[in-house]
Amino acid sequence: MLIGCPREIKPQEYRVGLTPRAAGEAIAHGHSVIVEAGAGAGSGFPDDDYRAVGAEVVATAGEVFARADLIVKVKEPQAVERKMLREGQILFTYLHLAPDPAQTQDLLASGVTAIAYETVTDRDGRLPLLAPMSEVAGKLAPQVGAWTLQKANGGRGVLMGGVPGVRPANVVVIGGGVVGTQAARVAAGMGAEVTVLDMSLARLRQLDDAFRTEFRTGFASAGLTAELVAGADMVIGAVLVPGAAAPKIVTRAMLATMKPGAALVDVAIDQGGCFETSRPTTHEDPIYEVDGIMHYCVANMPGAVARTSTLALGNATLPFLLALADKGWRQACEDDPYLLEGLNVHAGHLTQYAVGEALEIDV
Ligand code: NAD
Repeated sequence: MLIGCPREIKPQEYRVGLTPRAAGEAIAHGHSVIVEAGAGAGSGFPDDDYRAVGAEVVATAGEVFARADLIVKVKEPQAVERKMLREGQILFTYLHLAPDPAQTQDLLASGVTAIAYETVTDRDGRLPLLAPMSEVAGKLAPQVGAWTLQKANGGRGVLMGGVPGVRPANVVVIGGGVVGTQAARVAAGMGAEVTVLDMSLARLRQLDDAFRTEFRTGFASAGLTAELVAGADMVIGAVLVPGAAAPKIVTRAMLATMKPGAALVDVAIDQGGCFETSRPTTHEDPIYEVDGIMHYCVANMPGAVARTSTLALGNATLPFLLALADKGWRQACEDDPYLLEGLNVHAGHLTQYAVGEALEIDV
């Protein structure tokens, strides 16, 4: 099969759908790979790294889309890219169709077979192609929160780990899933005193078993949450209610109870945010202040560490990519019901109930 990887054109997107190593693996499986010139540059992979593993580097996205049997990307195809998709072609990337009727209609009209990273599942019902980005955002959260806490950025001027004789920062993580666990581990590793709050007792048990020596856990009742938020130097929002907007856990009224210059890092901002005063920000202008409390609410945190994010995403997508290329999409999906969950569009038909419901299109 001919696998094609165009350069990402969505603003602020520096990741790439195929690393040189993944390209090399596909070639070792007997496939051919074409990559648009400069596709890997944002993640630190020059064209020569692709050539070195036997991939062909071509000048334009047009050539990639015209020739490839399977297109592998990161972000949903933009309008100009969608015009280049064609019948019978496989598209493997993040799509997020439910809030995007224009993209959905274009994919249906193109005749493409589109498999979305975000709806591929695993044996436990988790989302293996979203998890790596949650891990990245989780590990990044205390790092950006620590920077936000610095005086020059409007913060309290508290050092995460303290120093001998001076107490470390007090960090509260709300939501103990993928993001929250990684955030808590990094914050604890920086020397902060960390408490993770979650509504799920089963999850709290798992966290306590695995990380008792690194951080504490707490049941996310309204009372305990309010008490811990009031005493925190940093609060990291990491809740997720699948398919729903994030619940507003820290209200504006609660800000008045907090220490001036404390930092709120709302990782859940891509689901609307779990602090009432959150609004999405960008890497160029990531923080703002409300009632003396500093907010960091960047909606695409993994973009700040594009190289790590590309490598992490590539590790997760590679087995599925190889299955699709080795067997063709139909056999690969027949053999793997979890990959089949990723199928969103085929030959002019929508194949995801959730997307159909959201957009009122027959499935
Ligand atoms: P997850 O499902 O692994 O974990 C969510 C946790 O929140 C679960 O343990 C759940 O029990 C808990 N929870 C739900 N409601 C709660 C409540 N009211 N109080 C306390 N805990 C509650 O999800 P995840 O992968 O960790 O993702 C968390 C959020 O981070 C999501 O909104 C995700 O989209 C977002 N995210 C953002 C970025 C970014 O760049 N900003 C990147 C990756 C993920």
